[in-house]
Amino acid sequence: MAKIFCVANQKGGVGKTTTTVNLAASLAAQKQRVLVIDLDPQGNASMGSGIDKMELNQTVYHVLIGMADIGSVRVKSETGGYDVLPANRELAGAEVELVEIDRREERLKDALEPVLTEYDFVLIDCPPALSLLTLNGLCAANGVIVPMQCEYFALEGLSDLVNTIKQVHANLNPELTIIGLLRVMFDPRTTLQQQVSEQLMAHFGDKVFSTIIPRNVRLAEAPSYGMPGVTFDKSSRGAQAYMQFGAEMIERIKTM
Ligand code: ATP
Ligand code: MG
Repeated sequence: MAKIFCVANQKGGVGKTTTTVNLAASLAAQKQRVLVIDLDPQGNASMGSGIDKMELNQTVYHVLIGMADIGSVRVKSETGGYDVLPANRELAGAEVELVEIDRREERLKDALEPVLTEYDFVLIDCPPALSLLTLNGLCAANGVIVPMQCEYFALEGLSDLVNTIKQVHANLNPELTIIGLLRVMFDPRTTLQQQVSEQLMAHFGDKVFSTIIPRNVRLAEAPSYGMPGVTFDKSSRGAQAYMQFGAEMIERIKTM
């Protein structure tokens, strides 16, 4: 049975999509069966997995509004070695249409049910908002992975996310927990980043993943080739860090 993780942070540009596709590729390289769900109308996780978002007839949008099931919409990422439930701009409409639909926060959870035995991991790339789309991700998930940059305002934003997760936990999904905070785009030469990193560990303890993802240009270049960094340049420091993060996640789920 798959374990389902949301990669979420309402702050934009913090490395959610980079983490989703590279963790997926890392897990796939370590013999795990992985489904990536692109829950962002920007479609970045789809494009970064080598799937052209403009060419799609059906997307996660059709799944959410009940016009298709996951089995007929998912596609294979040849460059990543995992399956993708892709997205494009059309998904922005779901935000409005779902309001009228029954069990509107649980559409994704319900749709996932039939395919869970086919995967070890389902990774959901959330948009940069605490929206109805993100709520669908949080309701479907066993846990949340929070990528964050170690800068001053990152800590401030974290409390909104933690509060939302608490509310979803109380009202919609009693299983939901923060699996961990992932330090990304890390530059160890910056004193402030080191200080914030230490504060994080003091405050969140073992909720901070031991893997640290460095700032690495190869990770940023990979999406323009439709590839996760892990496949684009295996030997880069960024790829190696995400390989290590995959191993850490495989260990983590053994205790769940
Ligand atoms: P959004 O909120 O818009 O969905 P996001 O949180 O998904 O953004 P990404 O798209 O993953 O963030 O990353 C933002 C930018 O930072 C991208 O250009 C990405 O290539 C770059 N980036 C992410 N991680 C790293 C890293 N470790 N080193 C260097 N660049 C990175
Ligand atoms: Mg993104």
